[in-house]
Amino acid sequence: MFASIKGRSVIVTGSGRGIGRGIALRFGAVGCRLLVVSRTLSEAQRVAGDITAGGGTALAFAADVQRAADMAAMAKAAVDAYGGIDILCANAGIFPAAKLGVMTEAEFDQVIGTNLKGTFLAVSACLPVMKARKSGRIILTSSITGPVTGYPGWSHYGASKAGQLGFMRTAAIELAPFNITVNSVLPGNIATEGLAGLGADYVRSMEASVPLGRLGSVNDIANAALFFATDEAAYITGQSLVIDGGQVLPESLAALDEMRSGS
Ligand code: NAP
Repeated sequence: MFASIKGRSVIVTGSGRGIGRGIALRFGAVGCRLLVVSRTLSEAQRVAGDITAGGGTALAFAADVQRAADMAAMAKAAVDAYGGIDILCANAGIFPAAKLGVMTEAEFDQVIGTNLKGTFLAVSACLPVMKARKSGRIILTSSITGPVTGYPGWSHYGASKAGQLGFMRTAAIELAPFNITVNSVLPGNIATEGLAGLGADYVRSMEASVPLGRLGSVNDIANAALFFATDEAAYITGQSLVIDGGQVLPESLAALDEMRSGS
C-alpha cells in the first residue's frame, strides 16, 4: 500500500526499551537502517541485536539527550554509518511524578531538560545533515498528558509534552523550505516498562478508562510514527496524532458506564 522506505537512515532516541524500542523494531522490519540510542548501552545493544537477528541493519549508540555534545556525536555516528539521516524519532522521555508543593526545582529541570530541551538538542544535531540534503522527517513522541489532559503529579511532564507541540509548530514552518516535516505522536497509556513502573493500581485504572478496553501497545505508536515517515505523508507537517484507544473522548465516568451498559 505504501512505497518502500527500505534503506532509510533512522535515529530513534530512547529506544533501549518501551515505545522507542517498538519504533526501532518497526522501522527495522521495513528495512530501514537504525541507530538505536539510549543512555544504557547494553539495552540499546540488545535492541540493535534484535533488529540484526531479524535480518535488519542496526547499531547501538549511548547518548544522553540532555547533552548537546552527545547529540552531535549521535548525528555523526548515523552519518558515518549510513551516509546521512533521513528520519529522526525524538522519543526519549521520562515521567516521574511529583505534586506541586513537593516538586523540587531539580525535578522540574530534569523533566523539562530531558523531554523538551532533549527534543530541541536531538533535532538541532540532525538538522545540518537534513538541511544540506533538503530532506528529512522528524517525529516527536509527545503525550496526551499536557496537550490534551492533565494528571496530578505531572505538571512538569505535561508542560514538557505540550511544549514539544509548540516547538513542533514553529519548527515545521522554519524547516518547510528544506523539505523537512515535523510531526508528533501523542500516546495514551501504552504498556511499557516505564508505565509498569507507575504501579498495578495505576495500570488497572488506566485500562478501565480506555473505551477500546486495553492499554496501547508500543506497536500502535510505532505504526503511527512509521506513517509520518512514509512518502505518502510528505504533505503533512506540524500535526499531532492522538493514539489512545479513545481515552480522551468520554465527557465523564458516566459516559463510560453508559457505554458499558450497552444501552
Ligand atoms: P520507558 O519505557 O521508560 O523508556 C524510555 C527510554 O528513553 C529508555 O530507553 C531510556 O533509556 C531512554 N531515556 C530516558 N532518558 C534519556 C536520556 N536523557 N537520554 C537518552 N535516552 C533516555 O518510557 P516509555 O514509556 O517508552 O516512554 C517513551 C516516550 O513516550 C517518552 O517520551 C514518554 O513521555 C512518551 N509517552 C509514554 C507513554 C506511555 O504510556 N508509556 C504515554 C505517553 C507518552 P535510558 O534510561 O537507558 O537512557
